[in-house]
Amino acid sequence: MITSFIEYEVSERIATITLNRPEAANAQTLPLLDDLDEAWRRAADDPEVRVIILRANGKHFSAGHDIKGVGPEGAASNGEAPKWTLAGIYEIEAKRFLEYSLRWRNIPKPSIAAVQGVCISGGLLLAWPCDLIIAADNAKFSDPVVMMGIGGVEYHGHTWEMGPRKAKEILFTGRHMTAGEAEKVGMVNRVVPLDELRPAVRELAAQIAQMHPFALRQAKRAVNQTLDIQGFYAAIQSVFETHQTGHGHALSESGLPILTLLDGMKTAINK
Ligand code: ZN
Repeated sequence: MITSFIEYEVSERIATITLNRPEAANAQTLPLLDDLDEAWRRAADDPEVRVIILRANGKHFSAGHDIKGVGPEGAASNGEAPKWTLAGIYEIEAKRFLEYSLRWRNIPKPSIAAVQGVCISGGLLLAWPCDLIIAADNAKFSDPVVMMGIGGVEYHGHTWEMGPRKAKEILFTGRHMTAGEAEKVGMVNRVVPLDELRPAVRELAAQIAQMHPFALRQAKRAVNQTLDIQGFYAAIQSVFETHQTGHGHALSESGLPILTLLDGMKTAINK
């Protein structure tokens, strides 16, 4: 299976899903996310597949949601200014930015994300649902949406992934977390030199693929279920509503789902 945005291949019990929009730093449009979800479903349904790798072509894992590509459907093609409503935003985001990520997280097979370059906001929604994350030494993780008047990206993994204090610092400042810092807080499993990223992830996947698939399924469920009992699922749902009040506020202030970028935002993102 190959689409405009996603490459998919299976070999030696490992499914590899590759984001393939490198010219746009793998920024996510709605069709890209739908193709990605289709690839995850294939990997989940294929009895030959025991481990799933998610990786990205190009310099960057993902620059987040492509603002032009996630608006009201059809708006871009007819040349009219998009007519944003909170109901429309909610519908797009509940499916593509919340349900997809939760489904990928709960697929009963181990998954590994390989992250290089930037992983910004919506990029986190692709990496966090994976069970393991291997980062290249040039990886940078950030969610600078407070600068756009929003309290954090749709799927609130921050507190779980970074711990509460780092989560607040990263959100309040919009700064990025380096690969080393991400490893220190437990958000990534390992940092490797950039040119070793793909072989390292492949080797790890091959090792895991030797294990009994039902035991892997049970191990994954044990950890995810523990997090859910601690409140992960309920918190993710609850904070999604908080996120929507951010869009509602921006709509009432400006007619757009986010507020105008504050001065210095680009500087902060690129730091
Ligand atoms: Zn949103």
